[in-house]
Amino acid sequence: MNKVTGQEHGFAVNLMQHLVVPTFVLDPDCRVIIWNRACERLTGVPAKDVLGTREHWRAFYDAPRPCLADLVVLGRTGEMEALYIDAGNPSELAHCVRATNWCAMPQAGTKLFLAVDAGPIYDDEGNLLAVVETLRDMTEQKRAQTALEHLACSDGLTGVANRRSFDEKLRHEWRRERRDAQHLSLLMIDVDHFKRYNDTYGHQQGDECLRRIAGAMTEVVFRPADMVARYGGEEFGIILPVTDIEGASVVAGRIQERVAEMNIPHATSDEGRVTLSIGIATNAPADGDQAEALLLAADAALYEAKHAGRNRLARAN
Ligand code: GH3
Ligand code: MG
Ligand code: MG
Repeated sequence: MNKVTGQEHGFAVNLMQHLVVPTFVLDPDCRVIIWNRACERLTGVPAKDVLGTREHWRAFYDAPRPCLADLVVLGRTGEMEALYIDAGNPSELAHCVRATNWCAMPQAGTKLFLAVDAGPIYDDEGNLLAVVETLRDMTEQKRAQTALEHLACSDGLTGVANRRSFDEKLRHEWRRERRDAQHLSLLMIDVDHFKRYNDTYGHQQGDECLRRIAGAMTEVVFRPADMVARYGGEEFGIILPVTDIEGASVVAGRIQERVAEMNIPHATSDEGRVTLSIGIATNAPADGDQAEALLLAADAALYEAKHAGRNRLARAN
């Protein structure tokens, strides 16, 4: 067995104390034996408050739960998936685990997105000596990534989902509803005489009108699983998972009502205000068609609503 002199040990501890990477170390009893300066700065928790205790979770979370290093000490890394957003065992780091999480950071006072690595240290006989956990503050990168993802998924003019997210979600929900034998409904919504609206009020006001209509739809479509999307131009699509034709008709009716209440003037239309035509289609749980068939059915119903005089709902046959 290699002998570690007291001097060497002191040097190693000193090195870790001043490491720029926030780091803490647990002994095989899950007690904190090192809590370095960078870790104090990141967490707002002084080393003297945690050294020798099992209270390190308090630096990160509001309620007791294991940290990544605890899971490694206890041989419970199987629980990582349940406790972290991304959890993995990167092959290049033998015995090490890696995960990311939003942490409440009660002492620091600001929520942080932390990337965490934890790895065990063994003696020559293979006995666990300690587990080292290092932390990286990834909050800015995570926020930037979330903002980019939001940009890529949303429509620049109205802020609702864009066509790409609509297509993706429709395929996804279609597969899910087929598997679970549930209804899936779709509304296709088109603004009536919108070309005339632009011609009368100008394109800028046309844009404003589309924003207000999108806002009205998001006000009355509020189930988290639903999606309001701008399908293109002055046409919107709404995906309503686990909703039958009756439920979808109620939602469509609410949209018509809300837009009627808003009473957006449209001098060159039939009603003197902006109106919508809505096509409604629902898959039957046993339908064998593709998601596109539902889209075609809703489109055909929309065409029917237009043909029958606009400002109305039509259901697919
Ligand atoms: P219908 O009642 O049959 O739907 O008639 P419509 O005039 O609404 O239909 P049409 O498809 O002929 O015209 C759609 C208009 O929507 C034409 C286009 O200039 C306008 N439009 C599409 N996208 C936008 C947009 O982003 N902003 C504005 N202001 N207008 C848009
Ligand atoms: Mg149109
Ligand atoms: Mg139109």
